[in-house]
Amino acid sequence: MKQTRRKFINSSIVITTGVILQSCEGKEITTNKELSKNIPIVVSTWKNEGANNAAWEVLSKNGKSIDAVEAGARIPEGDPADQSVGYGGRPDRDGNVTLDACIMNHLGGCGAVTYLQHIKHPISVARKVMEETPHVMLSGDGALQFALAQGFSKENLLTEASKKEYEEWLVKAEYKPKVNIELHDTIGIIGIDSDGNLSGACTTSGLAYKMAGRIGDSPIIGAGLYVDNEIGAAVATGMGELVMRSVGSFLVVELMRQGMSPFEACKEAVMRIVRKQDITDIQVGYIALDKNGNFGAYSVKPDFVFTVSDQSGIKIHDSESYETK
Ligand code: ASP
Repeated sequence: MKQTRRKFINSSIVITTGVILQSCEGKEITTNKELSKNIPIVVSTWKNEGANNAAWEVLSKNGKSIDAVEAGARIPEGDPADQSVGYGGRPDRDGNVTLDACIMNHLGGCGAVTYLQHIKHPISVARKVMEETPHVMLSGDGALQFALAQGFSKENLLTEASKKEYEEWLVKAEYKPKVNIELHDTIGIIGIDSDGNLSGACTTSGLAYKMAGRIGDSPIIGAGLYVDNEIGAAVATGMGELVMRSVGSFLVVELMRQGMSPFEACKEAVMRIVRKQDITDIQVGYIALDKNGNFGAYSVKPDFVFTVSDQSGIKIHDSESYETK
């Protein structure tokens, strides 16, 4: 007996996330392959061709989505020209580059690191937290010690370019986060592999010149990133405080569970921010992907873009926004 996927999710427990989905009574419902219209697919925040290409390299060879999103996130992390992520990231107001990242797989497993210093690829440390520890999140020196024990090397992440900008900032030391800084903030990347499994990753150096010890939304499961293999995935970029206050990525996924499209869910999550919080000079953007490979995005302010790779190639999309130009 065939049921619609929605009815199935509402009325049954998913026993397997493999090819065949079965209800509690053991009736065959349908297959992931039949459900999936546009897989594999990967979507990332901002203009991130390098990240998408690395992720697509994995997905196009029938690799796992968790490997794809990690591979994708590592590209801006290792790129000194990207001053919002990893190596070359802008420091906090004390001059320290402190990194936040999290990762989530199709089984609901997750790992995160916060306030991690001296390690170029926090997303890979987050994955080790997920796979090698009984915990979800490690922070600061504990995260660093764990990374070193796992074989990561200690490096100076403050490049000359970011150091120079920081020294210029110190002259006035005014804390004014810029909207859409350089059009490539935090990278959030979500994907579905050819088995229909979803994963996501999110990595950032956080807000430039943030207070020492400040943690944003990006490493917080449910805020910066959320994945539910039955429904879809969402990731956030922009002012993390607003995202954390509204548990944004979890909200987007739960709205999709209630029947909204990825676009509608991102829009409603943005509207919750707009209705309750001060959005003066603030950007927040969400991207979302449902289980069938449909994607959508919405942001508070214009100029949020996102990158999609699927069988048809790679494309940068403009997001709709609450405020317009
Ligand atoms: N969401 C990040 C944070 O608040 C910043 C960003 O996306 O640029 O740390």
